[in-house]
Amino acid sequence: MMPEHLHISLAAARARKFLFALLLTAALTPAAASGSESFHYICLKCHRHLLQNSRPNVSYCKAGGNHNWHLLGPNGPMIHICLKCRLLVNSSGRPSVSYCLAGGNHNWHLLGHRGHDNYCCRKCDLKVRASGRPSVSYCPAGGNHDWIKY
Ligand SMILES: [Zn+2]
Ligand SMILES: [Zn+2]
Ligand SMILES: [Zn+2]
Repeated sequence: MMPEHLHISLAAARARKFLFALLLTAALTPAAASGSESFHYICLKCHRHLLQNSRPNVSYCKAGGNHNWHLLGPNGPMIHICLKCRLLVNSSGRPSVSYCLAGGNHNWHLLGHRGHDNYCCRKCDLKVRASGRPSVSYCPAGGNHDWIKY
């Protein structure tokens, strides 16, 4: 049986540690309070893109060592594409501009809103599930996207 005062200080230390973990989680995931919300993460080393409700495990990056996860933003109905690295993200707002995989900042363009219609661009082969025809601007193959519904 451990002395009562020692027992109390251990519990206090544990509570502090728990509180610290909570604060850390809140800092990393801005809307963590809403519970089931999920977030887009991208590893800046291997470019793996994950949708998770907390920071993904760092182990086993394909590029060697640990993943270096960067939070792009919360999942949502807006389809954004970066005109530089062509990363597609369904977000609730403009994703983070930091760390474009093509260098410098991402240059996000709003393609449309998520839906049940499958579109494919005949020129650049980009596929999106949108509600209605996506924006035609900025086809990476040049000029406008040429969307076909399939
Ligand atoms: Zn990685
Ligand atoms: Zn980019
Ligand atoms: Zn296109």
